[in-house]
Amino acid sequence: MPDFSTRCFVCGKETDPQNDKMNKQFNLPVCRECEGTDREKKAIEELLEGMAEGFVCGCI
Ligand SMILES: [Zn+2]
Repeated sequence: MPDFSTRCFVCGKETDPQNDKMNKQFNLPVCRECEGTDREKKAIEELLEGMAEGFVCGCI
């Protein structure tokens, strides 16, 4: 499990809190290379899908 507080949630690269952005929706760091790209959108979709699955499983 990567540490999402210091790594870009899209590519997993270590981020620099001084220079890199946060994704405001999830409060996760995203590096400048990934910010605003299709890869970032895809990573967000996967996060949302993972959360939805978690909710379904939690009901059983
Ligand atoms: Zn990145």
